[in-house]
Amino acid sequence: MIRVGDAANAPDFPEAAKHALGNAQLRRNVRHATDVIRGKRALVVGETADWQALREAGRRIKAHVLEHLDTYLTRFEENCHRAGGRVHWAADADAANRIIVDIIKSHGGSEVIKVKTMTSDETRLNRALEAAGIAPYETDLADLIIQLGDDRPSHIVVPALHRNRAEIREIFLRGMGLRELGGEPEDLTTAARRFLREKFLRVPIGFSGANFLVAGTGGVCVVESEGNARMCLTLPRVLITLAGIEKIVPTFEDLEVFLQLLPRSATGERMNPYNTLWTGVTPGDGPEEFHVVLLDNGRTKVLADREARETLHCIRCAACLNACPVYRQTGGHAYGSIYSGPIGAILTPQLQGMSHSRSLPYASSLCGACYEVCPVKINIPEILIHLRRRIVEEQGSYLERLAMKGAALAFTDGRWFTRAQTIGRLLQRPFTAGGYVVKAPGPLAAWTATRDLPAMPAQSFRQWWAARGGRA
Ligand code: SF4
Repeated sequence: MIRVGDAANAPDFPEAAKHALGNAQLRRNVRHATDVIRGKRALVVGETADWQALREAGRRIKAHVLEHLDTYLTRFEENCHRAGGRVHWAADADAANRIIVDIIKSHGGSEVIKVKTMTSDETRLNRALEAAGIAPYETDLADLIIQLGDDRPSHIVVPALHRNRAEIREIFLRGMGLRELGGEPEDLTTAARRFLREKFLRVPIGFSGANFLVAGTGGVCVVESEGNARMCLTLPRVLITLAGIEKIVPTFEDLEVFLQLLPRSATGERMNPYNTLWTGVTPGDGPEEFHVVLLDNGRTKVLADREARETLHCIRCAACLNACPVYRQTGGHAYGSIYSGPIGAILTPQLQGMSHSRSLPYASSLCGACYEVCPVKINIPEILIHLRRRIVEEQGSYLERLAMKGAALAFTDGRWFTRAQTIGRLLQRPFTAGGYVVKAPGPLAAWTATRDLPAMPAQSFRQWWAARGGRA
């Protein structure tokens, strides 16, 4: 079953956003955190003389990969096998979860340490593990906060961004069963270190996501800031990686581009403190058994839509979230998906199906800030408009489709435009006061409830011009 977390059952964006906007603490936390990351990003991007050339290189590599995805995926599989790894193909979320549970069970495992894996939130892996009697432990600090707080991620890179320090202290006190804990960052990280270290040293099965899969070597790359992923990737005896099929890059050299774009865009760092690359298994060094599960879960559907396929270029840096005026007001939970912000607004409905999450392509002012900051130049505003068109064509009411056809006719033919103006002037009369349409009729009332809509003038420019005999 194709699934993006719990997106299929999430409330519509406007309803969820209304709830989020009422939470002043959440809005303060989100605003502060995104301001800090944006400031850092602006500094390190500003000092990179060839930033636009890097963006273009990133875009080209990703577009090339998508044109030849079948070739690169099979190349990755061959090279990974050759290096001692095993590749599994999962058509959807349930298939991926089944494969992972089976691998863990085949080793008699009842616990697994996890790191850097949004994709497993997409498949709802933790629930499948728990249902199979396997305890998952998140080891990324932010994911640990989410897990102990029984919470949902609200940001792609900083999943607990909506929590402040005082809240995290409370979560740790409760979730780790501590009697006392200071509130300074060192106190919190020391508590997390003690809690996780025991698990790193004891649990023999590790699980990770992937930032990049290198087709030319069959290797996997994970970048991070804490070092927890390094522990999770090197200490266990068995390592399982779950990755979307779009994570492929052709060669090791291509990482040069992405390892400059990603840290600058994601956390405002020149490079990530930890870049872990591994290829298959090496006797006496690291895991003895390595599995990669390659996940489709709707991605080939996205690939088939030429106008929207660049959605799959995404390297999950979250720069578009931090720049988005809508996300910065509502935070991530309002999007009802683990993928929030502008990228979530285009990715979730395409993966999950347009009948779900159909309000998401409208969760944008189309200001273009997301496009400007995207390190791989995904034209999110264009894709939003494309998806809005698909929604109207596939699911719009008869009246909506009729209105759109009428608008198309009026905007492509001057005579029809003049007629539409005349009709509009007549229709607006009962609803106009002081030069404004104060309360539009029917469903349009929602629009004028929060905005000023200037009434149409009695005379258009063309009519005024014609009345003067075409003279200024
Ligand atoms: S769409 Fe672009 S800016 Fe947004 S997360 Fe993906 S790569 Fe980053």
